[in-house]
Amino acid sequence: MLNIVLFGPPGAGKGTQSQNLIHKYGLIHISTGDILRAEITAGTELGREARKLMDNGILVPDEVVIGMVENVIKANRDAKGFIFDGFPRTVAQAQALDDMLGRYDTGISVMVSLIVSQQELVTRLLGRGKTSGRPDDQDEQLIMRRVQEYLDKTAPVADYYSGSGRLQQVEGIGPIEQIFDRICEKVDAVTI
Ligand code: AMP
Repeated sequence: MLNIVLFGPPGAGKGTQSQNLIHKYGLIHISTGDILRAEITAGTELGREARKLMDNGILVPDEVVIGMVENVIKANRDAKGFIFDGFPRTVAQAQALDDMLGRYDTGISVMVSLIVSQQELVTRLLGRGKTSGRPDDQDEQLIMRRVQEYLDKTAPVADYYSGSGRLQQVEGIGPIEQIFDRICEKVDAVTI
């Protein structure tokens, strides 16, 4: 299996590049943000609880997202592989993901970390907020809170993967196709 973690702060381009990767490598996309938004739209209890946190730029509890990810993996055991987008966002989630994939005799092949400056992130997210309909993209203060949440809780996840030799960094600024080529170089290096 080819299992990729696409990593980076909010607005780094993970969603866009995930779509490109799914097409090229035939992977299943697991975006915990998308799954949570689907729960909100469906009006479930989980969605109502998650919304309170998401509307404030705060991470939802680890056990909630870990359970959601396991459900998708379980339902797709014959997949060629997965691309994890917006997950793991804490070291506890990263450890749980390793344990989970280990139980299916597989693991994370590579973590590709998209590097984008803070100023660029805010500009991109405010731009996206004009069309995405996402309330968390429309308020600069809320964007800054999400970036801070990333720095506090999520950035250490890169060290976790670096420690096990699975971290690859990619410059996340420039034309989308060029960034995609840079990502593919890193992915192909682990598949060849
Ligand atoms: P995203 O679409 O990835 O930007 O996620 C939107 C929001 O959903 C985040 O600001 C968090 O509140 C929540 N969320 C998404 N994925 C996770 C995760 N892996 N762990 C905790 N919270 C998450």
